[in-house]
Amino acid sequence: MKTTPQKELEFLKNLRKRVPQPRSGSPVRLGMGDDCAILKPPLGAEVVVTTDFSLEGRHFRRDWHSSRSVGHRCLARGLSDLAAMGATPMAAFLSLALPAGTLQKATGRAWVEKFFDGLLNLAKTHDVILAGGDTATAPGSEILADILLLGSVPRRRALLRSGARAGDNLYVTGNLGGSAAELAVLSKTPRKFSNAKVGEVHPHLYPVPRIRVGQALLRRKLATSAIDISDGLSTDLLHLCEESRVSAILDAASIPLGPDASVDQALHGGEDYELLFTSSARMPSTIAGVHITRIGAIEAARRGQPAIRIRTQGGSIVPLIPQGWQHSL
Ligand SMILES: [Mg+2]
Repeated sequence: MKTTPQKELEFLKNLRKRVPQPRSGSPVRLGMGDDCAILKPPLGAEVVVTTDFSLEGRHFRRDWHSSRSVGHRCLARGLSDLAAMGATPMAAFLSLALPAGTLQKATGRAWVEKFFDGLLNLAKTHDVILAGGDTATAPGSEILADILLLGSVPRRRALLRSGARAGDNLYVTGNLGGSAAELAVLSKTPRKFSNAKVGEVHPHLYPVPRIRVGQALLRRKLATSAIDISDGLSTDLLHLCEESRVSAILDAASIPLGPDASVDQALHGGEDYELLFTSSARMPSTIAGVHITRIGAIEAARRGQPAIRIRTQGGSIVPLIPQGWQHSL
């Protein structure tokens, strides 16, 4: 095993200094610096846990995504999973593997620094502490990051994929397809958004996890089931239908489209990180400042029938074959 040179250790130590310490009242009782972090979930809460890989060449490309965006997206993916459960974030843990020699070059150090800028900035927005992690030398030439997030939910109140019932309405937050549309532009002109910033509308580079919407859905008992749209509406709706043992009918004309997005990108594009949920309650038009749109309804599953059908803009009803992201190995 190769030991880490002094200069690299120094760099990592300085990075660690930038991670904010937990404030009093934080669920993180002890953050970085010991062998383990210590967390204290609120009284009567259950803990929800999610992990997400961000792998170079698979989830991002260094020539398309700035490292600030990679750091932001890395945490956003995990936060979006917490949002789908209605959870309140408690702490994040990051494992980062960098190709040999990365920290010996100024460009490599800058990459890592801006990665942390993106990640820590989003963490601050959602009051989540980076409470630990690990760094290692990657075996190959790609950067590999794995984020682990913990959140809390009141006991037995987490929003699940399995609660949808026939007769429920189907809703989505924000709009869909914007991420796929932006990625399509990025793949043709990689430098197009090189000055993109958090807070601007960049659904692919800087997605906004819907933490506050998820919390409100849980608190106000507005959802019977929920999932976040990471793989694409068609694929994630199928996950929800399978877990709830129901089928769904979508209305193509009512799907809210992101900037420059097509219906196809909204249906199959993925990485929108909006929430898809079902409800039998009266629905406000916005929740936590985010627009809510009814896009269909839940029906009883019928043997031999497709799980999802869609009413096209022409008015005919046809089966919808999920074509979103496949988690292939
Ligand atoms: Mg998810």
